[in-house]
Amino acid sequence: MRCGDVEIGEGSFTIIAGPCAIESAEQALAAAKAVEEAGAKVFRASLFKPRTSPYSYQGIGAEGIEILKAVREETSLLLETEVLSVNHLELLHDHVDMLRLGTRSMYDYELLKEVGETKMPLILKRGMSATLEEFLFAAEYVLAGGNEKVVLCERGIRTFETNTRNTLDILAVPALKEMTRLPVIVDPSHSAGRSSLVGPASKAALAVGADGILIEVHPSPETALSDGEQALDPPAFLALMGELRALAEPLGKVF
Ligand code: PEP
Ligand code: MN
Repeated sequence: MRCGDVEIGEGSFTIIAGPCAIESAEQALAAAKAVEEAGAKVFRASLFKPRTSPYSYQGIGAEGIEILKAVREETSLLLETEVLSVNHLELLHDHVDMLRLGTRSMYDYELLKEVGETKMPLILKRGMSATLEEFLFAAEYVLAGGNEKVVLCERGIRTFETNTRNTLDILAVPALKEMTRLPVIVDPSHSAGRSSLVGPASKAALAVGADGILIEVHPSPETALSDGEQALDPPAFLALMGELRALAEPLGKVF
């Protein structure tokens, strides 16, 4: 699937990286420059955050559009952001290259239909307790609207295990590839829940045939307003990119 000059699928391993949430212009630009230098092609840049607790950071909101403009001016990264509601679509349309629907939105059928109408490239995350069949039906809502630019994202599912934030269903990647021609990426960050496991999850994704990763990187994880525990700092991200690049070639993937 092509998005601007970035290929997702077709033998590429595409890196989509950035902070959990946009917090300020300084934070966003520092993150964007770091991930671009390390080899990411797309900047994940959430303005609206779906949080379990209403008292947790909810995101910078529409104010963040100006920050996205600055990132666009200062880097050549494509921009992707989460859409939480139909009301966000118009606001975001001209300022990002890709939309993302989070795990909680996979069952939001009206939102899926509206995103189908936009024809914008979409990263669709698997519902945290969705079967692969349900996941593909959700994608079908978007495809049926005439939007074929759908990328599936395995982000871990809810199981009895609490050691990791979610249980990365790594075999979902090859299993989905037996069921659909849509690209499949992995979110190592929300599966792992802690930075020490993000590298192993990313390497597993590459080894098992994923078309890329969606990964959280923050210029200073210890001060992050959300998901700091699972964010890589720029040096750790750069090191991981080096390891993935070295693994990609023998696996026949273009980095
Ligand atoms: C995210 O990627 O920012 C996110 C909120 O992830 P998920 O919807 O998978 O929990
Ligand atoms: Mn997050």
